[in-house]
Amino acid sequence: MEELTRRAVLRTAFAAPALIGSFWSQTQTQQNREQPKRFEEVGGFEVDDVALRHPLAIVPLGSLEFHGPHNPLGTDSIIISGIAERVAMRTQALLFPTISFTQCPAHTAHFRGTINIRPEVVTMYFADVLRNVLHLGFRRVFILNGHDGNIGPGRGAIAQVANEATDPQLLFASWWEFLSGETMKSLGLFKHANGGHGHGGPLETSAVASFRPDLIHLEKARDLPEPPDLSGGSPYFLQKSVAKDWPGYSGHVSEASPDKGRKLVKISEDGIVKLVENWLANGEAPGSW
Ligand SMILES: [Zn+2]
Repeated sequence: MEELTRRAVLRTAFAAPALIGSFWSQTQTQQNREQPKRFEEVGGFEVDDVALRHPLAIVPLGSLEFHGPHNPLGTDSIIISGIAERVAMRTQALLFPTISFTQCPAHTAHFRGTINIRPEVVTMYFADVLRNVLHLGFRRVFILNGHDGNIGPGRGAIAQVANEATDPQLLFASWWEFLSGETMKSLGLFKHANGGHGHGGPLETSAVASFRPDLIHLEKARDLPEPPDLSGGSPYFLQKSVAKDWPGYSGHVSEASPDKGRKLVKISEDGIVKLVENWLANGEAPGSW
């Protein structure tokens, strides 16, 4: 009995350094992967000067929304988290977690799987998040958007917070707006006149496929007539109430592929980085521009 206890003690004594060793080597492996600094990983001891060590905070906005039977409900969140990660790496920004419980437009709100928070609630919620980010000392905050329903609440929240503050600046941009009608036409990836844009359409499906091909099920959706292009390439905003006889996605989804998605995401990422760098370099220029 005594011998057993002694052996057990010895085993523990030898096992402990090994355990500690594997703990540190795991940590090392995680650090070696190219990853941005994430807010949830900031140590309590680092909080006070975290804003001094990062010129920029990035707050990504996503959604939980039906995107057709072939796409995951987190399509917007997956795309924007992926893009935000790369932009944060390239700009040494501190990356906040993606906000996914957001407002969805009336035409997708009734689909099962869509989680729809009232726009006025989301506006107040975004504003509180931004107030807290500024309170940490950040003077440049980039709200990187992945979902069309966030544009109104996002800009509303920014307007509120900017009115309360004296020095900080807040930038808002949506990833798909870096893929203009002209760009899409020159790439010729999709046959659509609107370049493959549209909710759950081939452009968006390709983008999510570039990050998570395992979550795409093209066999679950049939191709739909391409959506009409009202403006010939210029941006516009059309809000329908419940869209009748619509399966919750648009266009020739069979044209989607991870390769096309990688190309598109890279163009958007490069455009976003250029915008952010220009902003950081010219942030002190007087006036609004
Ligand atoms: Zn979407």
